[in-house]
Amino acid sequence: MAKTYDLIAIGGGSGGLSAAERAAKYGARTAVVEAGKLGGTCVNVGCVPKKIMWYGASIAHTLHDASAYGFSLRQEGFDWSQLVAERNRYVANINTWYHTYLSDSNIDEISGYARFVDNHTLEVNGERYRAKHIVIAPGSYPVVPDIQGAELGITSDGFFALAEQPKRVAVVGSGYIAVELAGMLNAVGSEVTMFLRSEHLLRRFDDMLRESLMEEMLNDGVNIISSSSIDRVERADDGTLSLFCAKSGQVQSGFDQLIWAIGRNPSSGDLGLENTDVVCDAAGYIGVDAFQNTAVPGIYALGDVTNAPQLTPVAIAAARRLSDRLFGGMEDRHLDYSLVPSVVFSHPPIATVGLTEAEARASHGEAVKVYQTRFTPMYHAFTERQSKVAMKLVCVGAQEKVVGCHIIGFGADEMLQGFAVAIRMGATKQDFDDTIAIHPTGAEELVTMR
Ligand code: FAD
Ligand code: NDP
Repeated sequence: MAKTYDLIAIGGGSGGLSAAERAAKYGARTAVVEAGKLGGTCVNVGCVPKKIMWYGASIAHTLHDASAYGFSLRQEGFDWSQLVAERNRYVANINTWYHTYLSDSNIDEISGYARFVDNHTLEVNGERYRAKHIVIAPGSYPVVPDIQGAELGITSDGFFALAEQPKRVAVVGSGYIAVELAGMLNAVGSEVTMFLRSEHLLRRFDDMLRESLMEEMLNDGVNIISSSSIDRVERADDGTLSLFCAKSGQVQSGFDQLIWAIGRNPSSGDLGLENTDVVCDAAGYIGVDAFQNTAVPGIYALGDVTNAPQLTPVAIAAARRLSDRLFGGMEDRHLDYSLVPSVVFSHPPIATVGLTEAEARASHGEAVKVYQTRFTPMYHAFTERQSKVAMKLVCVGAQEKVVGCHIIGFGADEMLQGFAVAIRMGATKQDFDDTIAIHPTGAEELVTMR
């Protein structure tokens, strides 16, 4: 006999936990199936440990700047293993908290790997489970290229398992993870070389952000090799790694660590979906409509396993709205995927929401007006390390509706959230101008741009 629930979530990460939690609040009988650690990617090998490392790296920058403010500090060094131990303790506490939280919320925790037996039945560790509603939220996994010697490198998962600080690191990739890990490692003293297969960092971002970040990272001492497609990796007799690019004939040697940061694939391959009528696209992303419905009534998918922005708040928001719809009587409740704000925890950080200038011009042509500014923040007025802030507002039409806001520099990460609310509410440039500035801050430039 199969055990039955109102809702079962496959995956105890950002999306699965949120769907179950919201459903349980409405009184639904729910269970979460988790094959690994509760909290999923974000808590265990993503946002949370990454942000701790980012704070560590930011402190390294602050220590460097401190002498300009009159502090004479003698730096004794940086203890990677201490930071990692504190970080792991923090993450372990969150894991423990989740177990208690699930039991306190009357959500059953099923440990193991879930596979579909048919459209309505799951199997975990040989046990069968059925539910009126099954939410597929198994997330994604890091891509490793199919080239000779690829196994000599690690991914972001391996990065979080590093017990010692690597001295010379090769980071392949140019997206979120590549720039975040490269910036962090560089700040704490590793020698970092980034390998970009194209010319630019962060391909889908506004040009101003991409160009500014490239300049900042180069100024900070990150070595960036563009137009370099790595097609072979070898380990030398001394244990170091060499990266080969056949196209350019280049070889770069002497790395003690190689990190692949070239994207993540949806974890849909081993779910037994062939036993169901759920449909995936060629890349393995599960097809869903605006309400997270798959092709099978009663089966839903959300988070990284769908072709949505791979961000924790996106998975959480989709999951909560789904349970509001299924159990809270909110028939039309669903996530609006437009205007998703996002921060890249690079050094300096990037914050972005809405259309890039190029996207706006492609869809609105002459109706686009752009306001931008670039300045040295007061914090860096007399520090040796110089880092600029750049901001851009992309506006459309006679009303100059703000359709995009892009910021890079000191404090950008904490600046955007409120502006994202305003932009979502349809704010115009005049609304920005009519808002009293908070002085002296960097953010005030966003309401005083000419
Ligand atoms: P996950 O959180 O990955 O959860 C899926 C869970 O399902 C996993 O625990 C997995 O073990 C489990 N699972 C998989 N298959 C099965 C199965 N068949 N049966 C049972 N369990 C299964 N996002 C941000 O918003 N901000 C950030 O700063 C940020 N930083 C990141 C840094 C890194 C290095 C990485 C890798 C990601 C980062 N992300 C960040 C992205 C964010 O972590 C993901 O978008 C988010 O975790 C996706 O949530 P999810 O529920 O879809 O999947
Ligand atoms: P991204 O999609 O951000 O970037 C992947 C990058 O890898 C692209 O720039 C792409 O380059 C490059 N690439 C792809 N294949 C190859 C290859 N064979 N050789 C060299 N480069 C290659 O993926 P990430 O892995 O960085 O991160 C995954 C997702 O996780 C992100 O998209 C984001 O949604 C989420 N995340 C969010 C964070 C945050 O919110 N701060 C932090 C970390 C991750 P090209 O541009 O040339 O196509």
